[in-house]
Amino acid sequence: MGCGTVKRNTLIAQNRKSVILFSGQFVKGLEESIFNLYDFKEELGSGSYGRVVYGVHKQTLEKRAIKIINKLTIVNEETRKKIMAEVEIQRKLDHPNIIKVYEFHEDEFNLYLVMELCTGGELLDAIARIGCLSESQAAVCMKQIFSALCYLHNMNIVHRDLKLENMLIEKQGNINIKLADFGIATELKPGNKLSQMIGTINYIAPEVIRKKYDNKCDLWSCGVIMYILLSGSLPFNGGSKKKTLSLIMKGEYTLTGPNWEMITREAKILASKLLDTNPKTRITAKEAFNSPWITSSKTPNIRGSLLESTANNIKNFQETNKLQRAVIRFISSQLLSQSERNELTFIFKSIDKHGEGKINEQELIQYCKKIFGNSLSEEEIHSIMIRVDTDNSGYIDYSEFLAAAMDKKKLLSEAKLEAAFKAFDRDDNGKITAQELKYLLEAHIKIDISAYAKLIEQVDQNGDGMIDFSEFKDMMISLMTK
Ligand code: AMP
Repeated sequence: MGCGTVKRNTLIAQNRKSVILFSGQFVKGLEESIFNLYDFKEELGSGSYGRVVYGVHKQTLEKRAIKIINKLTIVNEETRKKIMAEVEIQRKLDHPNIIKVYEFHEDEFNLYLVMELCTGGELLDAIARIGCLSESQAAVCMKQIFSALCYLHNMNIVHRDLKLENMLIEKQGNINIKLADFGIATELKPGNKLSQMIGTINYIAPEVIRKKYDNKCDLWSCGVIMYILLSGSLPFNGGSKKKTLSLIMKGEYTLTGPNWEMITREAKILASKLLDTNPKTRITAKEAFNSPWITSSKTPNIRGSLLESTANNIKNFQETNKLQRAVIRFISSQLLSQSERNELTFIFKSIDKHGEGKINEQELIQYCKKIFGNSLSEEEIHSIMIRVDTDNSGYIDYSEFLAAAMDKKKLLSEAKLEAAFKAFDRDDNGKITAQELKYLLEAHIKIDISAYAKLIEQVDQNGDGMIDFSEFKDMMISLMTK
């Protein structure tokens, strides 16, 4: 490993002034009218800041949810800052159980947040329909929520409004949960405290009422969610706001009665560890993810052939130039449909044993050893890790995994290449210039335009200093033969 570390640092040093890709890089403010890009359809719901409508991307036909925030509701600079903070937080997130944000846009009247669409409705509606879930269904839901929470807390983000209304179901017939609404989420450095009493009354933690709290408030809300999923009723409900707050402060709830008779001891232990009134002793997201009730929950069966083909794709993942890397990253983060992502997501989760929403080198080694046995050395797996980890974070994140694991024929279909080309060719004149590349790929580090011109040179067959679609396609198709 020591040797690997040296190599890794060298690689990072070499890359420091070149194009590095990171989560959220492609979530840019759109400059052209959103109505040129999307057909707006029916309303899906409304929240504190505006309506959410169903939209279809005119070119890719991808279905999206678009949150429309009327500027008249943005009464002051503070509200605007809050809304922009929500966008800023959400654009960085890359996790299978968190609603993905694709684009945002602003015109004279509204702000628009273009998001992944969930057609299965809110978890709240599902519970209202069926009363409560079976214990194993509840565990499957809670596992996903804890996984999203481990990821958020690792990134020093506190959600502050976890509740059934903010858990969306990807589509009817599955229980893939997506955490939504980051309207009051905030960043919080370890050791610091928050003091604003905010959230939703039935889910609010006692220390939030006392106005001194940290990310543990989210675990309390998880306790309330778990309680409702298992019993169909609220743990704290005094009939009035004052009485409810008093029950929460005292931690007065019950795990007995007819609804709880059939519930296992492991479930009750976890619920009580989440509904611990003392945030210091309350369980963390990581501990909850690793608790016996969660670890013994059912995991979906993954076809052996898919496990193997995915491992082969990852093993052979190799882009020879940075532009190929950027295009693949763009397609995997922006253009994959839910069905294209779903099976791979199960594999991603099965490799991510710690539930952090990203894969570390040890986890990759375990996966590769399972598939390839000793025919692949740890040194070779280390170089796979370096190739796949395109943002040099030391982990393979969700979009990086999808980029490497996806079958190249699907990833590089004509329709996807056309859509990607169009996104890179911002002025739509049929050619990608160095300036356009700089706009899309420039991250936190300013890089001279000549670096982008060099990327173009490697692909530019007719020497006009730009990339047309045929050059673009040739560059990407060459990956399929690798
Ligand atoms: P929000 O303003 O985020 O609370 O959203 C208001 C309502 O719109 C939610 O309660 C959902 O019913 C619906 N909604 C929000 N985001 C999505 C989405 N990504 N897909 C489908 N429906 C959504």
